Order: sequence, then C-alpha cells, then structure tokens
Amino acid sequence: MKKEKIILTGDRPTGKLHIGHYVGSLRRRVELQNSGLYDKIFIFEADGQALTDNIDNPEKVRQNVIEVALDYLAVGLDPAKSTIFIQSQIPELCELTFYYMDMVTVSRLQRNPTVKTEIQMRNFETSIPVGFFTYPISQAADITAFKATTVPAGEDQEPMLEQAREIVRRFNHIYGDTLVEPEILLPDNAACLRLPGTDGKTKMSKSLGNCIYLSDSADEVEKKVKSMYTDPTHIKVSDPGKLEGNTVFTYLDAFCKPEHFGRYLPDYASLDELKAHYTRGGLGDMKVKKFLAAIMQEELDPIRNRRKEFAKDIPAVYDMLKKGCETARETAARTLDEVRRAMKINYFDDDALIAEQAKRFAEE
Ligand code: ATP
Ligand code: MG
Repeated sequence: MKKEKIILTGDRPTGKLHIGHYVGSLRRRVELQNSGLYDKIFIFEADGQALTDNIDNPEKVRQNVIEVALDYLAVGLDPAKSTIFIQSQIPELCELTFYYMDMVTVSRLQRNPTVKTEIQMRNFETSIPVGFFTYPISQAADITAFKATTVPAGEDQEPMLEQAREIVRRFNHIYGDTLVEPEILLPDNAACLRLPGTDGKTKMSKSLGNCIYLSDSADEVEKKVKSMYTDPTHIKVSDPGKLEGNTVFTYLDAFCKPEHFGRYLPDYASLDELKAHYTRGGLGDMKVKKFLAAIMQEELDPIRNRRKEFAKDIPAVYDMLKKGCETARETAARTLDEVRRAMKINYFDDDALIAEQAKRFAEE
C-alpha cells in the first residue's frame, strides 16, 4: 500500500493568532490543504499544552479556543477538507504520552533548545511545571497518533520534531514497526522561519505582547506598523540605514510581492531597489512603513472580513469543532489500538497469551 501523506499541525489557544503564525505555518497549511496532494489534514488547538504554563489562568485558554477557531476559518482552513479539533477532547493522546514518557530521559528534555528558551522567557527558574517540561513528549503523541508525515511549522518546532522522531525510532525498535516518523515543513522564505515582533525582538509571540494579530482592525495595524522597530541609527532621512535587524524590512521580505510596487510604490521596481536606496541614505522610515502598511492591509483585509462573517454564528463554529473532535478521536483510537497490540498490553483480546498462561499453570 502506498504510504499516506498526512499533515498535522496546531497552535496553542493562548491568544488570537498573529502574522508570525500566518507566515510561519497558517499560510502554508491553506496552500497544502487546497493542493489536493495530502490524504488527510489534521489541525488542532493544543489547549492541554496551553495549560502547562497557564494553570493559574485556565479561563484564558477557554476564551481563546473560539478565537483560534475563527482565525483558522478566516485564513481559509476548510472543515470539509481539514479536520479541526481540540487536543483535550482526545484522551488517547494522554495514554500515548504516558507510554512515551518511558522512552525519553530527563537530560534529553533538558537539552531541548526551544524548551530552554521558553523556560527563560517565562521566568520559571526552578519552578518549572512538569507538564511544561515534558510537553515535547506530549507533542510527539499528538503527531504520531495521527501518523502524520508532514508538520508545517516555524523554526522553533524543529527540536520538537527531532524528539518525536527519536521516540518513533525507539518505539519501533522495541515493539516493531508501528509508528511513522514525521518531517517538519519549514517556510521556504527565510524571513518567515521566525518572524520577529514589532519591537524587533527575535520572535513575534503572544507571550511577549509584540504581535500584529490577524484580527486587528485596519487602524490597529496602521498604528503598529508606524511604531515598528527599524534602525535606531537611521535618524535623518539622509542617513544611511541598516537592513539587518530592521523589522520593517524583515516584514517586507515576508509579505512583499513584485506587483505591490506598481500598486503602492511605483517609484521603485523591486524590493532590492528599495533596500539599496535605504542603505545608501535618502529614504525615510515613514515612506517604507506606509508601503508595508498598504501591503499588510491588502493581505489582512479579506481575513478580517471572513472572520467577521464566521463570528456571526458562533454555535456553528463550536459544532464544527465538535465534529472535528469526533473524527480525530476515531483516528487516534485506531492508532492506540495498534500501539497496545504492539506493546502486547491488549491482554483480553490476546487469545494466544491466555491459552499459553492456561497451559503453563495446568503443567505446574
Ligand atoms: P505562545 O507564546 O503561547 O507559545 P506562540 O506565539 O509562540 O504562542 P504557538 O501556538 O506556540 O505560538 O505556535 C504555533 C505555530 O506558529 C508553530 O508552528 C510555530 O512555529 C509558529 N509560530 C509562532 N510564532 C512564530 C513566528 N514568530 N514566526 C514563525 N512561526 C511562528
Ligand atoms: Mg510557542
């Protein structure tokens, strides 16, 4: 049988989704969904993972489940083509995590660079919740329960995928070929691997409050772009400007297409030309920011409008999620069944085991 191509990816419902999610993963998901090249697509909200560092504020997670669902629908994820579900509703994922826990060492988790950075970012110091520390294992359960082959995600997810592959190899080595090794699908544009925040910090992240949200109003987007971090040494228009670490240019790398120049900045033919002028001096930040704002509005306007449409029928969105959970659970349960058989912990439907034990005791 031809190996199925299966996508799985998700987001933590800790806030509305932002343009970092969009360029890092969402945009790609929609393209892949519509390409028809994949047999199955699973998109999920990792509410359980969100609780690992929000246990004092579970209401935040509860409130954001619907926000993220609206963001999904707004960018064009289509429940007729993709199964959209919520992690906590699939108890099989906990069971898988429980078995995988025995295949990973504490020191291996301590070496995970993303977890290290996130622990620092959250100032956990020595009070790291066990669930947070072990979330790469639970993430491996999410991925493998659906036998995902492809995980479209940002660069920060690379260590998680490596961890998942290690678990798969270990499991298959001990118990025989059962699980599938996943591959990460990174954005093909370098600026999108880890989009910086509007403050110039290394990553746009809900936890850092430096985001442009997909649901921000046109005014909010305008304001955020205008106050974005650029090159602090570029003071006068005539000063030569630096591109490195200049967030406005990073965003242009992520969003600008050649046709935007004709529409919004006809004095320039390409992004290279604009960059050359900026580095030479004589091009003000405001002009570049206005151009970026126009591009952002063009991209975000239809998303914003679709979101408003879907928000008119919230019960229907919950219903869509409920159906997604049902479908997802069937798939996860099938994998769990195979896992239990492989581990030979399916005691009650293992006739050979029962007969063998009966014989052993009869002979005693
Ligand atoms: P939190 O602060 O709660 O961790 P987050 O903003 O980091 O939130 P996640 O839900 O952890 O978002 O990430 C979801 C997906 O979006 C992942 O695939 C991740 O790689 C991608 N992603 C998040 N932020 C960025 C970014 N700034 N650039 C590129 N991809 C990103
Ligand atoms: Mg994150």
